[in-house]
Amino acid sequence: MIRFEHVTKRYADGTTAVQDLSFEVAAGELVTLVGPSGCGKTTTMKMVNRLIEPTEGRILLDGADIGATDPVELRRRIGYVIQQVGLFPHKTVLENTATVPQLLGTPRARARERAGELLALVGLDPSVYGDRYPEQLSGGQRQRVGVARALAADPPVLLMDEPFGAVDPVVRERLQNEFLALQRSVRKTILLVTHDLEEAVRLGDRIAVYGQGTIEQFAPPTAVLAAPATPYVASFVGADRGLKRLAVTPVVAQDLEPLSEAGPPEGAGQQSRPATDAPGTALPLGSSLREALALLLQEDSGRLPVTDPADGRLLGHLTPESVHRALRRATPAGTAAEPAVQELP
Ligand code: ADP
Ligand code: MG
Repeated sequence: MIRFEHVTKRYADGTTAVQDLSFEVAAGELVTLVGPSGCGKTTTMKMVNRLIEPTEGRILLDGADIGATDPVELRRRIGYVIQQVGLFPHKTVLENTATVPQLLGTPRARARERAGELLALVGLDPSVYGDRYPEQLSGGQRQRVGVARALAADPPVLLMDEPFGAVDPVVRERLQNEFLALQRSVRKTILLVTHDLEEAVRLGDRIAVYGQGTIEQFAPPTAVLAAPATPYVASFVGADRGLKRLAVTPVVAQDLEPLSEAGPPEGAGQQSRPATDAPGTALPLGSSLREALALLLQEDSGRLPVTDPADGRLLGHLTPESVHRALRRATPAGTAAEPAVQELP
């Protein structure tokens, strides 16, 4: 969908912001670009909608060289969300959200109707917030409007530069979760810039870890955390990368201690015995290992019941040993040997 081929950007003052970048983002994929300030993330992003032109190399969108595409036409297909949101202060929330579709010729009534749907989608009731002005919203609410506005034109591609940067950590985590749920239904192709590793790991299908103007590793979050490709990536993800990995590794059936062959001691004289050892603290299969560990630590028995999320049926148990095994399983052998970016001719 988006393909960088040997892209280099040198600014007029001689600064090389990015050097020989090659990578590909698949349709419907969310790739996070993460790295310290000044490593070239925003430059990468702005080259996709031609706010900045590459010095060398080329960028393809759906197989077509964007250098040969009219920038205005290009930007119709690419939504852009930035940290400073950039809402029009003199327009209401609903008008702000409807702006782009109206510019593109959608009839006013239809554009406003769609804007209302999108505001609801990002958790802002249009009957409550639609007529407010940006200054009457909190930072987090303004960022939601920014996301709704970017989605309003229904672009297949979204560029998001530190979209949740301006909100406090608690609101931020909620916004991230809502955004992930939204992405599961709209399946846009997304490049999202962040300097926050936790955010990159939580949101990305794959992460591009930037060094100075180059991508050091381009891989799924679990692979980056399990097997950093270079010493730089290892130090960037930190010594606690194992803990971070817990959050992005789901519990699967093979991790569980199986139920005993005989099954629970049914009718063994203890009629009042509940179906699980500790009803209410069972973990649905597919939850993260971090959630599993948190619950396990509260279990005196050291055995956490795991249930089928569909029907609540007991499937087996997790123990500290099985969590440890699950983490080993999630360390794919040979991950570090994968090339950081796809090799190009
Ligand atoms: P990031 O978004 O990762 O913080 P940027 O892409 O904004 O990084 O910047 C990458 C490098 O390019 C930095 O060294 C920055 O100072 C430099 N840079 C960015 N914009 C310009 C510009 N217009 N002129 C010269 N240098 C720039
Ligand atoms: Mg930046």
